[in-house]
Amino acid sequence: MAVNREEYEKIIAELRKNNVTLVAVSKTKPVKDILELYDLGQRDFGENYVQEMVKKYEQLPKDIRWHFIGHLQSNKVKYIAPFVSLIHSVDSEKLLKEINKEANKNSRIVDCLLQVYIAKEDTKFGLDDEELHELVSRISNIVSLKNISVKGLMGMASFTDNNHVIKKEFQHLKSLFEKYETINHKPSTFTILSMGMSADYKTAIEEGSNMVRIGSLLFGERQKTG
Ligand SMILES: *Cc1c(COP(=O)(O)O)cnc(C)c1O
Repeated sequence: MAVNREEYEKIIAELRKNNVTLVAVSKTKPVKDILELYDLGQRDFGENYVQEMVKKYEQLPKDIRWHFIGHLQSNKVKYIAPFVSLIHSVDSEKLLKEINKEANKNSRIVDCLLQVYIAKEDTKFGLDDEELHELVSRISNIVSLKNISVKGLMGMASFTDNNHVIKKEFQHLKSLFEKYETINHKPSTFTILSMGMSADYKTAIEEGSNMVRIGSLLFGERQKTG
């Protein structure tokens, strides 16, 4: 149940060496667990559910950077727009426009990642290569999206023990990242490649990730509903 401090220190040391940012995924975990990592210096936390993230935001120190990593419905953007630090899971133009609108209401620029579907399973959200290409081209042309900044890509590998499959999927995402890094009009803003979770973050780093999202290694296993 408790936070695994030893694992945290180990992971942090490893990530620091590689210049990788750790997002500690705290979904379904209590506020006191988050505070425990906060006291060790952790500031980036990831959540999957809007209501849960809002509640935790209200209860916790305001210098925490909240990452939204779950599937996001357009009608819920307004609840997180005032404070969210990075939305990892943008998968449509509609959602992007809604984030822009709500960010504008809050006089903010909200950072986003486009979620790409790289796994073999069909239970996961995200854009396929073609949809990604289309959306990136459209974003470059929609000058009215002044209140969002598209910072990079996020993806999840297949849930499998086959490291070869995972490696291939991460390599694919990395190649897409490099492709759009160079065609983006403002290349210096397209800098984040969010890939890697508890089971595969080492492989992800080997394949060029610079942001990993780790939950169960730090906070223990979640209940099935999580
Ligand atoms: C839950 C979740 C994670 C963390 O998963 P662990 O296996 O517990 O590390 C990372 N990314 C996303 C998108 C998630 O939903």
